[in-house]
Amino acid sequence: MIETELGNLRRSHYSDDIESSMDGDQVTVMGWVLTVRGHGNISFVTITDKNGEIPIVAKKGDCPDDVREKLSSLKAHSSIAVSGKIKASEKSPKGFEIIPTDLRVFSEVEKIPPFEPLAKTVKNIDTRLEVRPIDLRRKPLQHIFNVRSQVLKSIRDYFTGQNFVEINTPKMIATATEGGAALFPIFYYNKEAFLAQSPQLYKEQLTMSFEKVFEIAPIFRAEPSRTNRHLAEAISIDLEEAFVDYNDVMSRIEEIIKISIHTVNDYAKNNKDVEFIIPEIPENIPRYSYDELIEKMQKAGAKTEWGDDLYPSNLKKIGLEGFYFIKDWPLGPKPFYVKDSKSNPKISESFDLMFGDLELSSGSTRIEKRDELEERMKNKGMKTDAFEYHLGAFDYGVPPHAGCGIGLERLIMALTGTENIRDVSFYPRDVDRLSP
Ligand code: ATP
Ligand code: MN
Repeated sequence: MIETELGNLRRSHYSDDIESSMDGDQVTVMGWVLTVRGHGNISFVTITDKNGEIPIVAKKGDCPDDVREKLSSLKAHSSIAVSGKIKASEKSPKGFEIIPTDLRVFSEVEKIPPFEPLAKTVKNIDTRLEVRPIDLRRKPLQHIFNVRSQVLKSIRDYFTGQNFVEINTPKMIATATEGGAALFPIFYYNKEAFLAQSPQLYKEQLTMSFEKVFEIAPIFRAEPSRTNRHLAEAISIDLEEAFVDYNDVMSRIEEIIKISIHTVNDYAKNNKDVEFIIPEIPENIPRYSYDELIEKMQKAGAKTEWGDDLYPSNLKKIGLEGFYFIKDWPLGPKPFYVKDSKSNPKISESFDLMFGDLELSSGSTRIEKRDELEERMKNKGMKTDAFEYHLGAFDYGVPPHAGCGIGLERLIMALTGTENIRDVSFYPRDVDRLSP
């Protein structure tokens, strides 16, 4: 056997596995240097691992001199392993400290990073993104991304518990689905292709074979503007279900929101230093119609008429807060696959889920009849030939179906009170940023 560089050195305990009752036990901990303080004969070093902090106290006479000297010379962020004895200590905020006997320095840091590891806020996001993995070590971001992971898990659990099948659909596609303007063109061998704006048509098709499907995957939008709520690459939680309409989808979203808030609350309970602004769990999420909101806005003095989009400034004017749905939107601007309302052909069986003035999700009942679909495409000036790969499926019994896409980043913004979408994406992509 070839000996590896790490050899058989392994962590025996995470920070949160250790307590004062383990006084005298031998442990090996690993992590990153957070702070080093000391003077001559004694060094206090704090290291952090995935779960928290570990105080190391190296005092002349208690531990080997070379270990103490090396420890006291380390700079923040160096990654190390420390073996030693647990010592119960009332002076330590953790109730214990580690008296080191052995030290291994994996990567020694020479540079001083552009911000402090303990900094709660660092104003300039560009400074932070330049060294994103270090930025992500900061507590506020640790909490956001840890909770994001748990919210994703609870949403996945919800779907699988409800017998949904998790799907993956192509991200390199031949035709636009959500309107052509915001597409990213790519080379696909010797042809032009695009990055998918949504899994829309594929997830609809898959209701024919699996009935209830969901996908959690990137969507690509060449958003032309710089805002705090748009990314060029975002994660969409898509669901699509057969034999239901948009009312059922709104009910599912209600469940998903409740479960997600529970998850965030649990996380906050287990992590005392969390500073999220967590929304209340709604009993029911109110469902307003587009018509009624336009009327309210007009009464409140907004210059807006039927058919206009509902602008954030106007939503603010009528004081809408927290989670709510806006349903029955005008059909005109809706994509071709959105079903028109049988009682009023000018409106659609569609909804947006809102949080204040932030759109979290759009959903609708979809058209299941080929001729209706073709007519809608023609009215929008689309070439039906290019969509034959999709339309062809409609010759073989597409069920009535409905679904939605929920923006994961926007959901996490709403659940944690985060203002900038770039703070809930590991490596945000926007007009100005294609790296790191
Ligand atoms: P907006 O009007 O806010 O630009 P949209 O109506 O164009 O959004 P949809 O096509 O309805 O977006 O997409 C469904 C959901 O996906 C949105 O409600 C949002 O949560 C999310 N989403 C869409 N585009 C983006 C983006 N560029 N960045 C982050 N999330 C997005
Ligand atoms: Mn939308």
